Amino acid sequence: MPTVFARKKWGQNFLTDKNLLRRIVRTIDPRPADNVLEIGPGEGALTELLLPQVGRLAAIEIDPRLVELLKARPELEDCHFIHGDVLWLELAELPIPTPLRVMGNIPYNITSPILFWLIEQRSHWSDAFLMMQKEVAERLTAAVGTKAYGRLSVMVGTFLAVEYCFTIPPEVFIPRPKVDSAIIKLTKLDRPLVPEEKFDRFEKIVAAAFSQRRKMLRNSLAGFQLSEAGRTAIDLTRRPETLTIKEFAALL
Ligand code: SAM
Repeated sequence: MPTVFARKKWGQNFLTDKNLLRRIVRTIDPRPADNVLEIGPGEGALTELLLPQVGRLAAIEIDPRLVELLKARPELEDCHFIHGDVLWLELAELPIPTPLRVMGNIPYNITSPILFWLIEQRSHWSDAFLMMQKEVAERLTAAVGTKAYGRLSVMVGTFLAVEYCFTIPPEVFIPRPKVDSAIIKLTKLDRPLVPEEKFDRFEKIVAAAFSQRRKMLRNSLAGFQLSEAGRTAIDLTRRPETLTIKEFAALL
């Protein structure tokens, strides 16, 4: 049973099922040489299982009540607890060496910002395991042409490979969320599909395309100067969900 009162604004749903916690750790497959960052340790349910199995562990938690509680647990004294917001964290400045493995049962209300933060910090981590709302996990792994395929699938898929690990029911959390959850594994593509210097423009094109899913691209992208090659190769009467990431990249 969690001892603190759960704060909704920080997406606090604590994991309580020991079997599930062990299954998550088995999925991560921690090794003694690993350096790991945990996002949002809460009361330490995952932290206490991971710590004995890895080389170095750091954990960032935004709630000062939880940081105090975690720091007071003698069995967790080897973990570097940081009080702060993960979205402001520079991985290279952590007290443990990089590249890291990242994991966390993350606050669902900031899932997209955390994914974009991971993309930004990608030179400092090797893989990441995140628990998130199942519907978001499905968007990340959606095939082109499906209803779930959208802006997030394209933006994340440009840099990262996403693997759906397994589904988690609401009953294993306190308090219970209203939705199913899922664990996903993220790794980095060897070669991102869009060069760094074109990323901002790519983001704007993809956002504009998906802001009106039912419109043809030639209408939703009317304000953009698209590449000659892209305009020749891609029929702009198509709708955004029919374009692969490579086709979006060709429009740059
Ligand atoms: N890992 C714990 C567990 O599985 O029981 C807690 C998971 S709970 C879904 C998310 C945790 O992330 C909470 O402890 C919350 O306080 C913390 N959190 C929320 N926003 C955060 C942020 N921006 N940076 C770091 N931690 C955050």
